[in-house]
Amino acid sequence: MMEDMCIGNLPFRGWPNPFHAALCLTWDVDDEAPFYSRGISPYHDVSEIEQRQYGVRRALPLIFNLLQKSRVPACFFVPAYIAKQWPAVIQTLADHQYEIGGHGFLHEPVRNLAIQDEDDIVREALTVLRKISRQPVVGYRTPSWQFNTWTPEVLRRYGILYDSSLMGDISVYQLAWDTGQPLLEIPIHWNLDDVEHWGHTHATRDHSISSPSTVYEIWKDELLGIVNQGGVCVLTLHPHVSGRPGFLSVIQRFIDFAQSIPDLWITTPGHIAQYVSAHALTVPRVRLASTMPDTQYGREPAP
Ligand SMILES: [Zn+2]
Repeated sequence: MMEDMCIGNLPFRGWPNPFHAALCLTWDVDDEAPFYSRGISPYHDVSEIEQRQYGVRRALPLIFNLLQKSRVPACFFVPAYIAKQWPAVIQTLADHQYEIGGHGFLHEPVRNLAIQDEDDIVREALTVLRKISRQPVVGYRTPSWQFNTWTPEVLRRYGILYDSSLMGDISVYQLAWDTGQPLLEIPIHWNLDDVEHWGHTHATRDHSISSPSTVYEIWKDELLGIVNQGGVCVLTLHPHVSGRPGFLSVIQRFIDFAQSIPDLWITTPGHIAQYVSAHALTVPRVRLASTMPDTQYGREPAP
């Protein structure tokens, strides 16, 4: 029998004994924040505002009950604006040991932000989240997964240990740039994001809603594949998208299935980052945008 060919570097597999792979359940509590950051008045589209406010108003209590029943940890990335609207809800999640992570102030897309603007947003957002959650807040997910080459430097400046917004591997890795320390990345992917399957609004009615059983099979296959490779599977969910009763039953089935996998570490990205840091583990490192032309920061000028 031919052995598997080994080319390139292996993904990170340094999980704590006895685990051989990891799963993170994460929710981005966006609600209406992205709508406002696009400059759309709340008076312009009450329908979409209501669809989005369903997230914290009704879905989060259902998600909280599901997590409590299943006894699994989870992480909630929250725009500071939403945390300010619902401080008691965020405090309750934090008091029950769920991780709270940063997600912009008003879910601002960072692609066209100057460094100083991005710096101001991260600093102000983390100040609000740390005050409301009474947690150190060591993780960040950039809004809409947009990223600048200087983003790791900005995040590290304000005490962030990891980011979870990029798709460069199937296990944890590090992003390095010219200056400063590299930043740990806990990678995501479109196929593990509920919006791609179930996101549906007046503006996106040509985007059909996937069958719950189809989505379950996609997530299950991806989880099994990542487990076989010893990596980390990060599910990205949004209360206002998958917080419907039928979709939540798929999430419950997925959690039940994950809990049946031996030696799968169901944890939070914050716990992974703290474990890697505390044990000074070696993690594969990539150089950000290393193949780009040597323009200023390797970035096209903003339009
Ligand atoms: Zn978001």
